[in-house]
Amino acid sequence: MKATKIAVLSGKGGTGKTFVSVNLANVIPNATYIDCDIEAPNGAIFFKPTDVKSEVVNNLIPKFDNDKCVGCRKCVDFCQFNALALINKKVKLFDNLCHSCQGCALVCDYDAISFVKKPVGTIDVGFANDKKIVSGMLNLGIISGNSIIEQAKTYSENWTIIDCPPGAGCEVMETIKDVDYCLIVVEPTLFSYHNYLLVKELMTVMKKNYGILINKANEADDIIFNDNVISRLPYMNGISKKLSNGIVVTDVDNKFYQDFDKLYQALAKEISHE
Ligand code: SF4
Ligand code: SF4
Repeated sequence: MKATKIAVLSGKGGTGKTFVSVNLANVIPNATYIDCDIEAPNGAIFFKPTDVKSEVVNNLIPKFDNDKCVGCRKCVDFCQFNALALINKKVKLFDNLCHSCQGCALVCDYDAISFVKKPVGTIDVGFANDKKIVSGMLNLGIISGNSIIEQAKTYSENWTIIDCPPGAGCEVMETIKDVDYCLIVVEPTLFSYHNYLLVKELMTVMKKNYGILINKANEADDIIFNDNVISRLPYMNGISKKLSNGIVVTDVDNKFYQDFDKLYQALAKEISHE
């Protein structure tokens, strides 16, 4: 059966994206939670999965055969990421800039380029009650983690809640490109609104259906956000302490459980309209 994939994203860090992703996955039976916030994955801190298995994710980077290379520069001029330079008639690779597109090999007329694996990160897969918990992690010093995100999403099953990287950049695009729906978490501040506008533009460019969840909602929030709001979560005293202790709030607070269950029903309705 095809998975139903919901991406939870925010233009700005700190709006409560992971809080929403974790608690939404927690109220959905047999859900899969995938942490694609690969520079700072912390959803597993809440779920505390067991039977965790780790796998290494590799990128393919070019290797140059100096006996075959004639120094024509075609590969250097082709690379859109400035990962190659020709120095003393030899191609030099700056591997941290390489995005593994493999295009350089396609333009080489001398069959001088092959590819080797370079580890860029890991994926942990474990279980917490009826949930599958998947966490992608980028290695230090690596610039592009798209291959980790792509590989992490292969674990999608049933309802899958995907915790996106913050912002609206390349890794967010990789995360949301094949999802069924995007849930944008905002807070009622002008900073959050400013970043929301960037994410909204991304939704338009990528033709994604989306809805807004206002976290820490107050009576003034609809002055700032007045379209596509599908849920509001009120500010709750004491929640920060629960979060800093790694507590899943929907496990201990019935009101929040009801709020997230309503969100689940609202998302199911949105998706059935597609
Ligand atoms: S694989 Fe792509 S990004 Fe990497 S060096 Fe070749 S052309 Fe550049
Ligand atoms: S395209 Fe091939 S032959 Fe030309 S510089 Fe690159 S590796 Fe060498």
